Amino acid sequence: MSLLRRALAALALVVTSLVVVAANPPAAHADECYSWSRNLSSGATGADVTELQARVAGWAGSGVNMGVDGSFGPQTEQAVRNFQAAYGLGADGVAGAATYAKIYELQDADCSTAHFDWAEVSGGCGQGGYSGGSVSAAQVQENLKRSMWKAEALRQRLGNVPLTVNSGFRSQACDRQVGGSGTGQHTYGNALDFAAVSGGFCPVAQQATHVGYGGIFGPGYPDHDDHVHVDLRGGRSWSAPNCGI
Ligand SMILES: [Zn+2]
Repeated sequence: MSLLRRALAALALVVTSLVVVAANPPAAHADECYSWSRNLSSGATGADVTELQARVAGWAGSGVNMGVDGSFGPQTEQAVRNFQAAYGLGADGVAGAATYAKIYELQDADCSTAHFDWAEVSGGCGQGGYSGGSVSAAQVQENLKRSMWKAEALRQRLGNVPLTVNSGFRSQACDRQVGGSGTGQHTYGNALDFAAVSGGFCPVAQQATHVGYGGIFGPGYPDHDDHVHVDLRGGRSWSAPNCGI
């Protein structure tokens, strides 16, 4: 190779490197469920903000049930900060390459989360699927996705212990069949019932108060001594008297 060709090859390499460095965010790997093409910080709006919010909403702070509204405000910034800190990333409140990489690690190609599966949250009573509820099947799945992301936060807060879902979505018929009203939170895909972890039910109920669930029912609340129920309702309706809640 002549000196000129060698110099040109070296130059091409430098130019290629510069292009890679300038990409924003740098070389994020494509994720089959959802991937982001820009950094997001305070003031950003859009569908990509909504997707981010759905995944970090469990980290907005104790008792904070933050909005998933496509508008990156103070609660979203705090949630991103806490998410970053919980997973050992630099906590700057800006969603960039490192934050997205962690999210990609925590989500599966089918848009369930790393530690929860559609099979365990889909229709109860042996029905499977997402139809027959109080909202469309698509909305049920979106709600279940948000429930699973908060459950990921809950699991992480519990020290990364395995957490099992006994019941997720129920059709209205299934909900009535198991003694419910037929229009409760389970019929929206908003609710999950957890089996006990090694430390019992109370740690699950107590940590659930920190990950943005509006509804929490556990030991001491009628019919909830054998599971902890959490849901995405607005406001706050918590009762687990045997756990101090
Ligand atoms: Zn329940």
